[in-house]
This record gives sequence, C-alpha cells and structure tokens, in this order.
Amino acid sequence: MAAVTLDGNRIAGEIRAEVAADVKAMTASGMRPGLAVVLVGHNPASEVYVRGKVKACGESGIYSETLTPPDGVSTADLLALIAQLNQRDEIDGILVQLPLPPPVNAKKVLLAVDPAKDVDGFHPMNVGYLSTQRPGLVPCTPAGIMEILKRSNIPISGQEAVVVGRSDIVGKPAAMLLINDNATVTVCHSKTRDLAQVCRRADILVAAIGKAGMITRDFVKPGATVIDVGMNQVTDPAEFKRLFAGNARREETFRTKGSTLAGDVHPEVAEVAGAMTPVPGGVGPLTIAMLMANTARAAKLRRKQ
Ligand code: NAP
Repeated sequence: MAAVTLDGNRIAGEIRAEVAADVKAMTASGMRPGLAVVLVGHNPASEVYVRGKVKACGESGIYSETLTPPDGVSTADLLALIAQLNQRDEIDGILVQLPLPPPVNAKKVLLAVDPAKDVDGFHPMNVGYLSTQRPGLVPCTPAGIMEILKRSNIPISGQEAVVVGRSDIVGKPAAMLLINDNATVTVCHSKTRDLAQVCRRADILVAAIGKAGMITRDFVKPGATVIDVGMNQVTDPAEFKRLFAGNARREETFRTKGSTLAGDVHPEVAEVAGAMTPVPGGVGPLTIAMLMANTARAAKLRRKQ
C-alpha cells in the first residue's frame, strides 16, 4: 500500500491561520509583532527566500522591514546594524539571511543577535535552552518537522527515530526535539557505518542530507514515517531518470524548465513507508510558518506573556 502523504501545505496553512489570529489579538492589545530581515548583497536564491518571508509576514499581520546592506559591507557595520535592531522595541525578531558573503564573519554576526529576538534559533543561548528544555526560540525547520509529526498523530514517545544529517540548523536541533519528546534517537552523518542498516531501525526517519534521492527503499522499515527535509535541484537527465522516470507531471516540468526539485528520499520509498512528506509541499512550507510562529512567540516571551 502506498504511504500516506503528510501534506505540509495543509499543516502550514493551519499554523499560519492560528498565528494570524494570535497576531490580530496581540495587535489589538498594542503589541504588534515585528520582524526585521537583514539581506546582504545580491544572492538570487536569498532574495527569493526573503520575498517569501516578507509576504508571509504581511499575510499574518506581522510588521516587517527588510534591511539591505550592500555586498562588501564590513562585519563591523553589520554588527552596528544588529545592535540598532536589538535596541528597537517594535522589532521582536531579527533574521539574518544566510549565506553572508565574504568577508563578513557570519558567526560573529549571528552571535550579536539578541537571543530574545533570534527567531532562527541559531544563537548558542537558544541552542542551550533547547538542549536543557527551557523556553526559548527553536530553529524553524526542525520545529516544523515536529508540527508535521504531532498534527498527523504520529507517535513519538518511545519510538526509534533516526536523523540523517547533523547540521546546526536541521539535523542536531531535530534530534534534540525528538529526544525531548521521548524518542530514542540516533544521529547519522557521512562517517556512519552501514547507514541503510541503521536507518532501517527507524520508526521515524528524518533525512536532512542534501543528496537527491539518497534514501532508497532498502533504508526504510515497512510502515515507517519518513520526513524528507532535502531540497535539491536536479538538472542531470540521468539523475532525473533514476528518480522520476514514468512520472508524467515531473517529466513535463523537467522538459520545460530543465530542472526539478527533489528531496533526499527516493520516490520509491512511498511503496514501503507508512507515511511520508512530499517534496515540494512537505517540510518546506512549515519553515516559513514556523518563522511566523517564532516571531509572535518572541514578542510574547520578551514581554513575558
Ligand atoms: P548540511 O549542513 O550540508 O548537512 C548535511 C548533513 O548530511 C551533514 O551532517 C552530512 O554529514 C550529512 N551527509 C552528507 N552526505 C552524507 C552521506 N552520504 N551519508 C550520510 N550523511 C551524509 O545541510 P543542511 O543545511 O542540514 O540541509 C540538508 C538538506 O535540507 C539540504 O537539501 C537543504 O537544502 C535542505 N533544507 C531544507 C529546508 C526546508 O525548509 N525544507 C531547510 C533547511 C535545509 P557530515 O556532517 O559528516 O558532513
């Protein structure tokens, strides 16, 4: 039987509607949440992401402003900009769009963001809050993964979870959230021995690797829930064929655009898994929804509500 599709668009829509209602009430009581997005230079992919975030703010009723320092801006100038945003009371969230172009010292800049306004949840203070189960701001994509699991009634407590990927923005915080919800968690990476065998232990398998279709059916226990975080542009015809041969809709897109978006999980996994997120339309939409939720949450946490 084919896996149940975990519809990220639907779940993200639910969350965004909840946030919009919350923001409306907050605004009525004189506490409209505000997000500042810092977009340095001209990176076309970053520009697309930032446009999506600003649009989502508008739809949620969140005040937003985009600051656009030029390419070549110094670390010192960016630190001064962050310091100003930290001081401004109407700004509850500060998001520094990554990657930051050289010579900017990205670690220094991220460390300068007030942890109370760190809606990406990347500041070491928030990382510590997460690992010690204190209230704080959690990175958006891992938080979105948990929303998909919970709102789809996938059991977590006592389950075996395997996370493939150990990045600071996805793999590690996803593992920490799963531990905090009482899963038994294994984290895998490029040095893991016999990856497929380890993955087959999983009741919940999270793939955050960045390699199109790497997780094939032999990595998946029948009936497992598979969360595909990967976002990979496939342009190579042979690679396309390995993943999507026979998929008429994908073939049409590939013919017209010369590329298609693929996850880290091979589509054949749908024949084995119990439930699975699609790409696109799975984890992706949750990331922006959780950014909106984090901004509203930051506004409340700062005012201790
Ligand atoms: P990353 O920083 O490049 O980390 C990739 C992780 O995968 C690393 O831990 C790496 O291991 C591991 N890995 C690479 N090759 C492997 C292999 N052959 N076997 C086992 N592990 C392997 O990537 P990321 O930022 O976490 O992102 C992962 C994917 O999620 C990307 O496709 C990205 O575009 C996507 N993403 C999606 C969203 C969304 O909103 N949907 C948000 C963020 C990221 P090592 O540590 O040993 O190198």
